[in-house]
Amino acid sequence: MNSWFWQTLQLCLALFGTSLALAILAATAVDIIEEVRRERDLDMLTGLLNRRGFENSFAHATARPAPGALILLDIDRFKRINDTFGHNAGDAVLREVGAVLRQAARASDLIGRLGGEEFAIFMPEVGLPDARARAEAFRLAIFRHAFPLPGELGSVTASFGVAELQPHEEFDGLYGRTDRLLYAAKSGGRNRTASDLDAAEQPQS
Ligand code: GH3
Ligand code: MG
Ligand code: MG
Repeated sequence: MNSWFWQTLQLCLALFGTSLALAILAATAVDIIEEVRRERDLDMLTGLLNRRGFENSFAHATARPAPGALILLDIDRFKRINDTFGHNAGDAVLREVGAVLRQAARASDLIGRLGGEEFAIFMPEVGLPDARARAEAFRLAIFRHAFPLPGELGSVTASFGVAELQPHEEFDGLYGRTDRLLYAAKSGGRNRTASDLDAAEQPQS
């Protein structure tokens, strides 16, 4: 047992065992870090990006100057859904809106729930006319979706703001401009889309 052969074999086995344990430990640590990162960047209710994840992905997508457009949408009279059917029914509507958006989106779109009943879609390489058309498609997809709510409240609508990314613009600037357009859609009667294109197209008085 004291021969050099057995000693070398024991040493090799010990080294192999230690390496294997370290490899398993490293793989577990990578899994845990990945899971923590996923939970940090995802909205647990809808599975979409949360605000932090959306802003990070936006920064990544716009690292090189390129066209793009942002859609913001906010569910209309959502408080009434909560008040009438309860918070759980409200949560179910949020989940379904997330699913409708995901289904109507393209693979390159970033989709997030930025908070409450407000969602965002960033579309890389898309100009304003196309972005507006896509916002209308999202709006109609929500409008036509059969939500599991009784009666008249079964139809859920949302208001939309759409703006085109300007050269060197950061997230906060684009978000602020889009949010003002969303507000215009709300005050214009809800269940509609507002963009700079609409303002330009409005008849002069
Ligand atoms: P508007 O058409 O002007 O947007 O009206 P609104 O009722 O949708 O807007 P308001 O800001 O008055 O109400 C939003 C409500 O959304 C209030 C808040 O309690 C509810 N809410 C925010 N986050 C959640 C959530 O995670 N789940 C549920 N069920 N409700 C939420
Ligand atoms: Mg709302
Ligand atoms: Mg809101």
